[in-house]
Amino acid sequence: PPLYEQRYEFVKSYIDVHKPKKVADLGCSECSLLHKLKFWDCIEELVGVDIDEDILKRKGYILTPLPIHYLEPLERSLTVTLFHGSVSEKDPALLGFDLITCIELIEHLETDVLEKFQDVLFGFMAPKSVIISTPNVEFNVLLSEKPHFRHPDHKFEWSRKEFQSWAMNISRQYNYTVEFTGVGKAEPESKDVGYCSQIGIFSKNYVESEESINDKMNCRSVYKRVLHVVY
Ligand code: SAM
Repeated sequence: PPLYEQRYEFVKSYIDVHKPKKVADLGCSECSLLHKLKFWDCIEELVGVDIDEDILKRKGYILTPLPIHYLEPLERSLTVTLFHGSVSEKDPALLGFDLITCIELIEHLETDVLEKFQDVLFGFMAPKSVIISTPNVEFNVLLSEKPHFRHPDHKFEWSRKEFQSWAMNISRQYNYTVEFTGVGKAEPESKDVGYCSQIGIFSKNYVESEESINDKMNCRSVYKRVLHVVY
């Protein structure tokens, strides 16, 4: 399967094992991952955030119910919400999640935005678990002879060492544990360049107090809701 499918399959297998109820996808773009997760047994709340309002408005319809959904209502409740906003901003709508995914998002963030984002994600949203995927620049030698970024909008592409040291620093700072893996394996005969997309899986080491969550809930909401569906 193509690489993007492999990333979605990776998230789905993680969800199968960990059974999160509230899942958010940051930088959800065309909502393809959310669409795949829509009828996953355990999920009761699905949220997508992107800074590109136009893409949410054009593609969000894939998350709306079909007539069949009204004829055969789900046994469990499911709400799906899309927000237009930047992941560098805090919004109480993103509190209390079991899993937040950031698939090929961070390499699109300028340094100052990335710094705000990591504090918003791990300090404010503080979900139970986080999955971050990003290109592994070491793999690029297998993709093209000339070194260049895989996409013109990429602000950086990291080696395994760069990604892992960023992720380990954050984990220490915000009290998470991180494990590394990836998708898209090189042929066994090529030299060790790692995976095409590298992935960090972060798990929170503590349980946040009600008080701390309530405190954060008081923060002003800044995201704009562009889709809200209750199944
Ligand atoms: N996650 C998608 C997937 O797996 O199909 C692909 C993500 S796409 C490569 C990167 C997305 O991040 C774009 O849709 C872009 O609009 C979004 N993005 C960039 N900066 C952002 C920000 N500051 N806040 C929210 N979304 C942002």
